Amino acid sequence: MYIGRFAPTPTGPLHFGSLLTAVASYADAKANQGKWLLRIDDIDSQRSKPAYIATILQQLEAYQLLPDAVIYQSARSADYADALQQLQAKGLTYFCQCSRQQLGKQRIYPQHCLKLALSGVNHHTRLHIASGTTVQFSDHIQGVVNQALDHSEGDMILKRREGIYNYPLAVVVDDHLDRISHVVRGADLLEHTPGQIWLGQQLYGQSVAHYAHIPLAMQGCQQKLSKQNQALPIAMQGPQISHNLQQVAAALQQAPLQPDTPARMLAQLVGQWSLQAIPASLTLAGIYT
Ligand code: GLU
Ligand code: ZN
Repeated sequence: MYIGRFAPTPTGPLHFGSLLTAVASYADAKANQGKWLLRIDDIDSQRSKPAYIATILQQLEAYQLLPDAVIYQSARSADYADALQQLQAKGLTYFCQCSRQQLGKQRIYPQHCLKLALSGVNHHTRLHIASGTTVQFSDHIQGVVNQALDHSEGDMILKRREGIYNYPLAVVVDDHLDRISHVVRGADLLEHTPGQIWLGQQLYGQSVAHYAHIPLAMQGCQQKLSKQNQALPIAMQGPQISHNLQQVAAALQQAPLQPDTPARMLAQLVGQWSLQAIPASLTLAGIYT
């Protein structure tokens, strides 16, 4: 059984880059007679805004991207707590008192607190990844990825000192609870996939079986389309909707779509969907707004 998902973070409205991911994950699920879930990644209550959730739901409806179920991370704190406890019981975590200031720009956490046996009160909880841990998987678009986790991810924070569970833990728990079989998402997350596979194996003895990372829409040669870069929200009415759907199909190198209602354009896309046609590259060649 194919179960896929689209997992936007409600820190802004959907832009063209998010539409690409939404449509690709939807089309791949529906072309495989699968279910398509919408998971609202609102675990970070400091950054997520209810108004953006409402906008995202309206935007998806305008494009007739209708999910089979909607799940909210904010309702799952008990599940994340359980998972963290399991990792603690296995000795795979430790507490950390380092501030962001202290660590500066270092990408990999230098394990200052690994041997300190801190109390956990007012401390971050980090995952401990033993040196030499490597993960290899085959992405359906990008090909074989082989990563030494201690050099790529390092000991990531699973729960912040303020009590907020972090995305690296939540995504693994969610994908497991929702029985996600296929993850289709942007290539910005490709580098985090080996860590998610490994964490899934530690927690559940298995991980999501299939990953496909689509190339990112760029708004300049170095800049991906993102909320941080002020990408424009996708239109919710008028001819811009069918234009955007045509652009999505073109960007993913699918057969052209005839302008029609959003529902019928999605049906066209699903009918002629080819994951193999999507370019195996981290970014798209065109420039988008
Ligand atoms: N919420 C994440 C994001 O917007 C995506 C999570 C995922 O697809 O795993 O970047
Ligand atoms: Zn530390």
